[in-house]
Amino acid sequence: MFDSFRKELSRRHLLHKAGFGFMAVGVSGAIEYIIKPSRTLAQAAPAPSKEPSLPPEKKLGWAVVGLGKFATEQIMPSFAECKRSKLVALVSGDRAKAEKYARQYGINSKNIYDYQNYDNLRNNPEVDVVYIILPNGLHAEYSIRGAQALKHVMCEKPMANTVEECQAMIDAAKKANRKLMIAYRAQYEPYNLAAIQLAQSGKLGKLKAVTSDHGRILDPKDPADVWRMDKKLAGGGSLYDIGIYSLQAARYITGEEPAEISAFTYSTPGDPRFRQVEENVNFTLRFPSGVLANCTSSYGYSSTKRIQVFGSDAVLELDPATDYYQHRLYINRNNRREEQNIEEKNQFALEIDHLSESILANKQPKTPGKEGLQDVKLMNLIYQAARTGEKVKV
Ligand code: NAD
Repeated sequence: MFDSFRKELSRRHLLHKAGFGFMAVGVSGAIEYIIKPSRTLAQAAPAPSKEPSLPPEKKLGWAVVGLGKFATEQIMPSFAECKRSKLVALVSGDRAKAEKYARQYGINSKNIYDYQNYDNLRNNPEVDVVYIILPNGLHAEYSIRGAQALKHVMCEKPMANTVEECQAMIDAAKKANRKLMIAYRAQYEPYNLAAIQLAQSGKLGKLKAVTSDHGRILDPKDPADVWRMDKKLAGGGSLYDIGIYSLQAARYITGEEPAEISAFTYSTPGDPRFRQVEENVNFTLRFPSGVLANCTSSYGYSSTKRIQVFGSDAVLELDPATDYYQHRLYINRNNRREEQNIEEKNQFALEIDHLSESILANKQPKTPGKEGLQDVKLMNLIYQAARTGEKVKV
């Protein structure tokens, strides 16, 4: 999988070299500039450096908490591409697995913890940040224990199962005077940043609507999907897991908070996967500017990760929009569809470094706890709208 990613990166690097348009995104995630397709190689200036004035060698130490599929396949390999972050500790209930990864990543075995002695991280000055990559129902406990161990916290999406848990996480980080960031990788990913910039700069005309669809088949034979069928560990169904990307897209593309919500849910009757959690959720958000967002979320159809933005002058399509790599962005204008070539970057390394940079510069990260809390609040209102059949005012 990573081989094809590398190939794709070098294809895009060649496109860039050949003078095709691209958008550069700094380590901080900020868009730095856009080169129009007509620019030649000679005209293409290098991206201005936005590196903060920190010692170049300074890297914060990170502990990954939970060595499951996402942690081992995406996050741990991405530290190799980080500029401000290094992987120095592992937390797992499976000692043999942790030792195997410790050898692979050159981690000292004294820096392997389990879920009981996790709190002893407090005495380990090599670890600055804990990255919680556990089932959703455990995010609150391990984020709070991490903050109490005086570590900064990165927590996977969704932030937690309930609004109360989210608030307790925010309070614990504040009390410990530590940063809390929610790992909304799409908000650090160059194609999504380009879409936000195009939508909010008026380049599509006046925004009218957004659609976003996220779906995948929930596989009961995949160990990573077993806990997703258990409401206590998952918090909700497809909405909590992947519909959250549709909700996020509607919010970050418009830059607004919804004023009103309507929704439907549906689960195939008798399907054992959906005894506790829902299969499908379709929801509509009305934003104060008048933009309407139609969003879908499903555990019942094959892989879909798409965002469309409808402006009065042009329509933007991002498909795939929120994959791990190989995104595509098109603009439809005057019946012509043009692909935009944007430099692909490792979004995981960008988001990890964003938190390290925020800690080093003592700045609030772009996706702090309150961003995660807002999504959990809204997802609960989406369920309420579906349950009652009534529009819900936010
Ligand atoms: P996974 O099942 O592969 O990993 C979960 C890990 O938690 C496993 O190592 C498991 O052993 C451990 N664990 C500890 N206590 C457990 C318990 N009581 N029950 C079950 N497992 C327990 O799942 P995953 O797909 O890696 O997801 C982990 C988290 O990462 C979730 O919050 C998920 O939403 C998030 N995630 C994010 C992305 C993204 O793109 N940002 C992608 C996938 C997953």
